[in-house]
Amino acid sequence: MTFSTLDDAHLAGKRALVRVDFNVPMHDGQVTDDTRLRAAIPTIEKLRAGGAKVILLAHFDRPKGRWVDAMSLAPIAPALAKVLGHRVAFAPDCVGKDAAAAVDAMQAGDVLLLENVRFYPGEEANDPAFAQALAENGDLYVNDAFSAAHRAHASTEGLAHLLPAYAGEQMRLELSALDAALGRPQRPVMGIVGGSKVSTKLDLLRNLVTKLDKLAIGGGMANTFLYAQGHDVGASYCEKDMADTARDIIRLAGQNNCKLFLPLDIVVAEKIAPGAPARVRHLGALDDDERILDAGPETVERLCRAMANSKTLIWNGPLGVFEVPPFDKGTVTAAKYAADLVKAGKLVAVAGGGDTVAALHAAGVADEFTFVSTAGGAFLEWMEGKELPGVAALSKQNKR
Ligand code: ADP
Ligand code: MG
Repeated sequence: MTFSTLDDAHLAGKRALVRVDFNVPMHDGQVTDDTRLRAAIPTIEKLRAGGAKVILLAHFDRPKGRWVDAMSLAPIAPALAKVLGHRVAFAPDCVGKDAAAAVDAMQAGDVLLLENVRFYPGEEANDPAFAQALAENGDLYVNDAFSAAHRAHASTEGLAHLLPAYAGEQMRLELSALDAALGRPQRPVMGIVGGSKVSTKLDLLRNLVTKLDKLAIGGGMANTFLYAQGHDVGASYCEKDMADTARDIIRLAGQNNCKLFLPLDIVVAEKIAPGAPARVRHLGALDDDERILDAGPETVERLCRAMANSKTLIWNGPLGVFEVPPFDKGTVTAAKYAADLVKAGKLVAVAGGGDTVAALHAAGVADEFTFVSTAGGAFLEWMEGKELPGVAALSKQNKR
């Protein structure tokens, strides 16, 4: 797919409507993690430098098409101003006369944040009339919210058809990192998929086995695969009704020459509690009350060897219950090993998923990976091989 980027745009004096993701964690009216605000800075700066008027569109939380004061974007304006080092005005509406008045008052280089687009039902319904109302305030549209691109909403998809549309800097960065991991990867390309459930990651597994040379399965979902192969899983978390599906995926992997890595040894304990007595077991009989909570050392070592023999790694889902030590050990060991390969220039490593990002931070290697996507749902849908409506609408081929 090819996109227009801000390098292609005439910006001077233009009103740029920019969709960003400012759905940040808040506590008592304060932003507690400004990662997403910082992610928007390169696009905002580029637009300001080009002499555009920067008009920011965003959603916050889930007001479901109604006005909910507690979900106002108002507190975000000062938080953004601090990160940006420049004044950020706020308009108490995203369409209509309040928005228009605020936009009319702008000079080149000014930054304005409009109120939560999800206060209108037309946003999530991708209502053409609402998209048109948004478009009234812009000469061009910039989408910088990859994390919202799996939704076909008025501000993420509809607007791209009404105004000249551009991919923002963060969007561009994310798309090129993802393309390097799965679109046009350096081979061999390996995946690690963990987490708790097979049932939520079926499409993802089905897509990956057709694209990867190797796939390691870990976490709770590995238990389901072990069970499907006739191994004892004791009292482990396991989706027994997914056994047929797991066998299908094993078959599909074989047909596509994707080598599957399932656990060889496991870490078991009776309960999930910090410092709970943990034992390493080979596959075989488990006690009735034993749970598999992490990958064993042999499994992790084999996984590391497979990474060392790969050029690209894509990772979603921890290998064990990483929130509760010592069951973080497999995930942390593998993550550090991958980070070392990246530092040595031997591996491109891309990871994503809410818990995966948390696990990489806990392991202290999130900044060392080639790219860590904080996009959540959009990242997973992309890993499933789905077309993301917000991205598709930016594509030059898809222009109406
Ligand atoms: P992500 O958010 O990165 O997509 P998931 O939500 O799929 O990842 O999976 C993360 C969860 O999987 C964590 O809460 C972790 O405790 C759980 N998990 C990992 N291994 C096991 C296991 N062996 N048994 C039960 N839960 C597990
Ligand atoms: Mg999760």
